[in-house]
Amino acid sequence: MGEAPCDLLEAELALDRVEALLAAELPGHMRAFAQAYAARAPLPAAPDIAGRASSATVGRRALAHPVLADRGLALLRVVAPIVIERDAGVAAARARYASTTPSWSAYAALSALRDTVAKARFGRPARDVLRSLYGAPEPASAELPADITGWRDPDGQELDLAATWAALVDRFRLGSPALSPRVSDRAAEGRTERPGVQGLTIVRAEVRPRAFVVEPGREVIVVVPPHAASPAARFAVLHELGHAVANLLAPAGLPRVLDEAVASLVARDLERATPVAIAARTRRTQLARVLAAVERGERPGDSVAPSPPWALWHDPAAQAAYVAAEELADRLAVAPDLGAALAHERARI
Ligand SMILES: [Zn+2]
Repeated sequence: MGEAPCDLLEAELALDRVEALLAAELPGHMRAFAQAYAARAPLPAAPDIAGRASSATVGRRALAHPVLADRGLALLRVVAPIVIERDAGVAAARARYASTTPSWSAYAALSALRDTVAKARFGRPARDVLRSLYGAPEPASAELPADITGWRDPDGQELDLAATWAALVDRFRLGSPALSPRVSDRAAEGRTERPGVQGLTIVRAEVRPRAFVVEPGREVIVVVPPHAASPAARFAVLHELGHAVANLLAPAGLPRVLDEAVASLVARDLERATPVAIAARTRRTQLARVLAAVERGERPGDSVAPSPPWALWHDPAAQAAYVAAEELADRLAVAPDLGAALAHERARI
């Protein structure tokens, strides 16, 4: 009886400390990361606190207390992937992708290294740990889909980025006064408000589109190429703008399935004017099911591709999240208030 409140207090103080350190260090890191990515420069390492085994322990201890569980989960969603990927053996094996085309046996070795770290730190294989933090159940497999004709061919249409973003801000009421009360993560409460930075920064660079969450509910950077003149290119940009919508609407700790679901929802706008995008979505989901089956060892990798795709190598368990996200996006599509729907689904997951 005497120990529980004391343990709760200690768990909360430890959580406060790690959250405060992350809140101080992550935004600057994410801005530097986005700039380096856009410049194709070496990417900065994550702040030490984000990848420390002790940070993961703090998150796990918080999970044991119902009043802290949500914050513990939010912390683990940030920390667990970094703890696994920062392990020296995992990092060395993963880095080989940059210099060589890796083999499927090298992929198996990398996966085994990830599992060793995950079992030591979280008691389960890496894919299980990540899937549960992402909120992604194991998807059923599927047939390998055929390519979609015309998906990657330039079609003379350009995406008007400014107009597209303005329409999204309006539709999802981003940046309106209604947004501020939704920023409810405790880490944000104690800090000085910085009016004016809340919103999206778009960086143009000839790289794969990618979104960087600087501060959940407050600041996102999206890096996009100067031109997006094929359906596939416009899809990729819209998908990342969707991540911006999701992370400006939601406080910290958004599970990956929800993040991807909003990205999918926003990218579906393409389907009105570009019917090939509907077939491409079906194909993408089918492919994610196939890759998830490869990832869990149910299907040989060389039956899918001669070497491991980038996504399997660098982003374990993401495929399961993509599949679950499509079903969630169907639900979010009919929600009258996306922010409220996200809060509801987040609590459920
Ligand atoms: Zn995504």
